[in-house]
Amino acid sequence: MKILKSVAVILTVSAAFSAMSGAAFAQDKGVIGISLPDKTESRWITDGKSMVDALKAKGYSADLQYANYDVPTQVNQVENMLAKGVKALVIAPIDGKTFSDALALAQKKGIKVISYDRLISQTKDVDYYATFDNYGVGVLQGQSIVSAWQKAGSKTPFNIEVFGGSSDDNNAHMVYAGGMSVLKPYIDSGKFVVRSKQVVFDKVATRNWDGATAQARMDNLLSAFYGKDHLDAVWTPNDAIAVGVISSLKGIGYGSARQTMPVVTGQDADIQNVKNIVRGDQTSTVFKDTRKLAGVTAEMVDNALSGKQVPVNDTKSYNNGTKIVPTYLVKPILVDKANYQSELVTSGYYTQAQIK
Ligand code: BGC
Repeated sequence: MKILKSVAVILTVSAAFSAMSGAAFAQDKGVIGISLPDKTESRWITDGKSMVDALKAKGYSADLQYANYDVPTQVNQVENMLAKGVKALVIAPIDGKTFSDALALAQKKGIKVISYDRLISQTKDVDYYATFDNYGVGVLQGQSIVSAWQKAGSKTPFNIEVFGGSSDDNNAHMVYAGGMSVLKPYIDSGKFVVRSKQVVFDKVATRNWDGATAQARMDNLLSAFYGKDHLDAVWTPNDAIAVGVISSLKGIGYGSARQTMPVVTGQDADIQNVKNIVRGDQTSTVFKDTRKLAGVTAEMVDNALSGKQVPVNDTKSYNNGTKIVPTYLVKPILVDKANYQSELVTSGYYTQAQIK
């Protein structure tokens, strides 16, 4: 009995030891620096959390930093990560053009650089890009508007206003191009009318995708071009902008039986916007499952660091001005009242309580 007991003790101790050495070994794979734009949109918080988890599962620890939408802060954070000796950098740039010096240093030190969600431009020192199909996001938004118009009887003219994302973010241009590929024929034929005539990207862009800026522009458009006439749709390129636009619309009485909400699109499936969809204030959003993007990114990091083949599925769309960056594109999904339960709750992305 005594002997048996001590064997059990030895077994337990050695099991604990091997578990510990496993953990210690996992830490040994090193620190990965992650730099994200800011915390005001729930998507970037989910991105950060998903990425820390995905890297941990592969044996890395993470240095996760947010830059409060301030370009010098983000560049500083990345430089500090380099100084601390990270093995790889995962960066979603605020302004894609601002990293050439820092990344030249990373390249010298043999640090791998992954551009995350947003493209880092004007430098050859970016190894891979993991993102969603941004052109596809715009196509889904355009289709959401057209199908809502058709469902409501295809009445003409259909009054629509257009918003764009931040001009320093390549994604904003891709989303705009995708959406216009669907909407332009309707605008050109006069079925859809943009009373403000503000359609080209430079006229409709929203600095830093800022909701308050969008709200102020929507206020102006409504008072200058609509008066008592109904605005039928607003193409909003992401959820932060949709929040601003919806609040402007509600401020002058939209959202009542007398003055129904226009079609409003979005991107990110942020919690607030899913609630808007459930309430009927927003028509749709585009769900980009950040768990999938984080998983792909962690695999890119791990494979690149261990000399294995890195997963990519697009080698022509993302020219950063210096080179075509090998990319992995994840598929975005249109979410509305009909499918938010299955896409967002059943899939475990949100709990029912979070979106109530
Ligand atoms: C992202 C969007 C996000 C926007 C504002 C874009 O680069 O792709 O998902 O809504 O930035 O943060």
